[in-house]
Amino acid sequence: MLTVVEPARELPVLRQVDVLVVGGGPAGFIAATAAARQGTQTLLVERYGCLGGLATGGLVLYMDCIADKEQHRVIGGLPWEVMERLDRRGGLAKDAPLRLHVDSELLQVVVDEVCLESGAGLLFHAWAAGALVEEDRLTGVIIESKSGRQAILARVTVDATGDGDIAAFSGAPYDVGHQCIGLNLKVGGADRERYQAFQRDDPDRARALRDEVRALGGFPLGLGSTPYSNTGVYWVNILGLSNWGQPGRGEGDVHSYFAGELSAIDVEHLTHVQIELRRRILLSLDFYRERVPGFEQVQLLAFASQIGTRESRRIAGEQTITQDDVSSGRTFDDAIGRAGISYDPIGSYQVPYGSLVPQRIDGLLVSGRCISTDHWTMQAARLIPPAMMTGQAAGTAAAMAVAKGVSPRQVDVAALQQRLVADGVIL
Ligand SMILES: Cc1cc2nc3c(=O)[nH]c(=O)nc-3n(C[C@H](O)[C@H](O)[C@H](O)COP(=O)(O)OP(=O)(O)OC[C@H]3O[C@@H](n4cnc5c(N)ncnc54)[C@H](O)[C@@H]3O)c2cc1C
Repeated sequence: MLTVVEPARELPVLRQVDVLVVGGGPAGFIAATAAARQGTQTLLVERYGCLGGLATGGLVLYMDCIADKEQHRVIGGLPWEVMERLDRRGGLAKDAPLRLHVDSELLQVVVDEVCLESGAGLLFHAWAAGALVEEDRLTGVIIESKSGRQAILARVTVDATGDGDIAAFSGAPYDVGHQCIGLNLKVGGADRERYQAFQRDDPDRARALRDEVRALGGFPLGLGSTPYSNTGVYWVNILGLSNWGQPGRGEGDVHSYFAGELSAIDVEHLTHVQIELRRRILLSLDFYRERVPGFEQVQLLAFASQIGTRESRRIAGEQTITQDDVSSGRTFDDAIGRAGISYDPIGSYQVPYGSLVPQRIDGLLVSGRCISTDHWTMQAARLIPPAMMTGQAAGTAAAMAVAKGVSPRQVDVAALQQRLVADGVIL
């Protein structure tokens, strides 16, 4: 590969903080709030102009696995507080008491408020592009923005980029997994009752039409609730592409369903997928408008502004959560939370603190989609409520590490658990 040498240069230090959270998605906005609520000077850096990550910019609006199979809520604390607050603003659609769909725009506003009230600082439109590491200790990150290249120094950094960018830049070990990359959308003018009646009354024809749209290179479309579904507005979850030219299989167990080969951390793959998905979504909407009852008047309202990455880096932690751990109902002495799982009879599983603590690198915690799991477990751990739950633990632990002057690896786990439980977390 052709390379060039980038000359060394001095960078201005934009901020020096106690806790830096990189990435303002479900894991990141919760982590920043949790750290700031401990009275710790905290800054949240986000590459786009809003918080929420895939739950806002990605139009991924269903809060999956907030409950176990019996519909007992297993996620509390800050994530639940945000849901209640959003509900009071009219920003939740409920298919059942714990089947929640968020409004992508109101969530942005609620989360701005929650973060700012906690005292966390926000820096938007800033892309973390490098790590500052001294003897295996992360001391800060390099950001790129319209203001140029700058450094932010931090005593503890929480990597909430979803892709584990900061951990990878720091030299922490990781695996890379692949799943279909999607692009969600919002539509108007849909008649969901008519569509559901068609699916119920003529399942063979409904299946044949799904096969037909796949054969054309498009995607089967479903209609997810919004708080204003009574006006015909729904969100659509797109499975997406599994490889350069092929839609995902969308069949078999949950792992074959989402299986893919494209890399969500390869800029050329991302560019190709972005263009192809837009083209194929329009093709799918045209097909549905013409052929599928309930879609006759459907209109595209918006593509998600953020591409739909399901899996990329899984950082190797002090503890990796495996399929065996989950299926056997293993409990952990260092548990920091619990989450639901739909594809294992166990119904819910514990997440250990060790899965947030990267091997080798100090001064760093990970949260959200990139925590340490095997590929099987990732399918559940990547969901939005579990990502938020790990964010609360990472932010709280980061603040405690700063307060005690220790590295996150040395945090007193019993004290962390006590704090989390006092803050509403369900272990
Ligand atoms: C198509 C699709 C459908 C899905 N369906 C569901 C569903 O129905 N229910 C469910 O619960 N989950 C679903 N998921 C999974 C879920 O949306 C994500 O796994 C979850 O949002 C992960 O949260 P996160 O905070 O780890 O990452 P993200 O939501 O990806 O947030 C990461 C944030 O970090 C920012 N960032 C990234 N890199 C940098 C950087 N270098 N510098 C600065 N900022 C950066 C991003 O802009 C983003 O705001 C779906 C995912 C996809 C792709």
